[in-house]
Amino acid sequence: VGIIVQKFGGTSVGSIERIQNVANKVIREVNNGHQLVVVVSAMGKTTDELVNLASQISKHPNKREMDMLLSTGEQVTIALLAMALREKGYDAVSLTGWQAGIETEAFHGNARILNVDTTKIKSLLDEGKIVIVAGFQGITKDGEITTLGRGGSDTTAVALAAALNADKCDIYTDVTGVFTTDPRYVKTARKLPSISYDEMLELANLGAGVLHPRAVEFAKNYSVQLEVRSSMEDERGTIIEEEVSMEQNLIVRGIAFEDQVTRVTVCGLPNGLHTLSTIFTTLASHGINVDIIIQSTTNQEKTNLSFSVKTPDLEETLEVLEKNKETLAFETIESESGLAKVSIVGSGMVSNPGVAAQMFDVLASNDIQIKMVSTSEIKVSTVIEQSQMVKAVETLHEAFKLGEEALTKVNG
Ligand code: ADP
Ligand code: ASP
Ligand code: MG
Repeated sequence: VGIIVQKFGGTSVGSIERIQNVANKVIREVNNGHQLVVVVSAMGKTTDELVNLASQISKHPNKREMDMLLSTGEQVTIALLAMALREKGYDAVSLTGWQAGIETEAFHGNARILNVDTTKIKSLLDEGKIVIVAGFQGITKDGEITTLGRGGSDTTAVALAAALNADKCDIYTDVTGVFTTDPRYVKTARKLPSISYDEMLELANLGAGVLHPRAVEFAKNYSVQLEVRSSMEDERGTIIEEEVSMEQNLIVRGIAFEDQVTRVTVCGLPNGLHTLSTIFTTLASHGINVDIIIQSTTNQEKTNLSFSVKTPDLEETLEVLEKNKETLAFETIESESGLAKVSIVGSGMVSNPGVAAQMFDVLASNDIQIKMVSTSEIKVSTVIEQSQMVKAVETLHEAFKLGEEALTKVNG
């Protein structure tokens, strides 16, 4: 027998009826002769509700207590699912993150998994039990509860699959797979039969919420065979694997986007050797994540620096910069919120120059002004007005022929 890891997200366990449905999916694989480890998220919007409760008490809740709070969501689901399985005559046992041996770094709110001690899970599996594990949480060396960042249950599942050397890891969710772009926004989005780890990693990092980026990282590093599929519909999902043969005429495989982007411009910085390192070291030491960076030199002595941050980080970014105004020696700061980032991703771009130009052309022809750009071998990202985000995604989706209809035309 082989081990299978299944993961069910919030919507998929959002009600008792859905938990029963999950139990049936688990039972099906057990009856196929597999050992099952099942990772679940908090029910429905539970995590959002818990965040909301905390925000009614504090603007900046203590991070340790926040993890204590948020980790409760998953604990409800594991117990209910174990009960549902027992009621159906199957021996199941639920484990919290620490009981399952998930050790993380000591970083509240967004901890990385450092190690998985599978001793307990393995012995429970050997006793013939179905093991249900709480996603999204772990424990530090000092016994403190941590969480893995929003969407982190995916990472729990893949880390367990890697540590247990599982045959496969199935991510069950509320869409039928990974699409060319978010199907909730673009009706013509098409399900991809497969996608490479690298492309999926870019899409996830650039805002496609269907998989937690670190889950894809783990899957790539430990060659875990991943499938994203529907917890409701019984159809094949999307396989995430090492190499994917290029679909005909598809240089761009997907489009990702995220809102809540702000551009910060620091004007009149000294044009010196250490300017960049000083400013970004200062921001990094406060845990502020900077994304796209553009430097423009106005004259020999002075330089301007623009960079993008997530809008919720703006307040702290400005505070940190102002506090260090003397050392950084800048003149003024400007910021523009209400922006979004739209990115095209595809490994075919490496060998096809002109993809970026085509993207800029499509946006310009639709009166969408590009405020910042960043590229890598397999992606091009643009920052635009948030109000034009969906329109930009739709027009790019069409222009790069990613839709259902476009594909039949190309092939037929
Ligand atoms: P879960 O609770 O199961 O983890 P998530 O909400 O985290 O589910 O992820 C699934 C959602 O990801 C979908 O409902 C969809 O709106 C969104 N999504 C974003 N980009 C994509 C994409 N390229 N393909 C499929 N879904 C996507
Ligand atoms: N419940 C957590 C969240 O909502 C983790 C997850 O669903 O993956 O972010
Ligand atoms: Mg998720």
